[in-house]
Amino acid sequence: MKIAVFPGSFDPLTNGHLDIIERASKIFDQLIVGIGVNTNKTGLFTPAEKKALIESTVADLPNVSVAIIEGLTVQFMDEVGAQFIVRGLRNAKDFEYERDIAGVNGALSDVETVLLLAKSENQNISSSMVKEIAKMGAENLDAFLPETVVVALQERLQMK
Ligand code: ADP
Repeated sequence: MKIAVFPGSFDPLTNGHLDIIERASKIFDQLIVGIGVNTNKTGLFTPAEKKALIESTVADLPNVSVAIIEGLTVQFMDEVGAQFIVRGLRNAKDFEYERDIAGVNGALSDVETVLLLAKSENQNISSSMVKEIAKMGAENLDAFLPETVVVALQERLQMK
């Protein structure tokens, strides 16, 4: 069985991430969206909040699950028996970065990284850009985020 992990920060999940999840779910038997716990930076959402948001968004994809990854992605993959890492590529900058991490992960463990190209309409979407425009009062975020994430982000920013 081909099991893949799509690791990332997902702070929060965007339409770009969701497109990669949907496409990867058609390639692999099982896809685990892995929420990384970054020790250096705290996100706007906690790992548990991100997990709940992603779970509700991917509820219609039966072979997709969501997990929080505390340590190295390759260690987590070993525990769950996953052989593939999925990542998304928006531009040349992503490519340079992804090539480096793929090299490191490949040196650490016998895993294969599969890079999927972002759809053109998602190429400019990043979690940080969406947070920035939402903080400045942008209201129509539907082109960037799934509906449940729009609601969660607006609630979170009002509380601050
Ligand atoms: P990280 O901090 O690990 O890069 P992100 O949540 O920013 O976490 O991104 C996770 C993965 O999703 C990365 O491979 C990134 O390139 C990809 N990604 C981010 N935004 C998009 C998008 N709009 N379209 C396609 N892939 C994306």
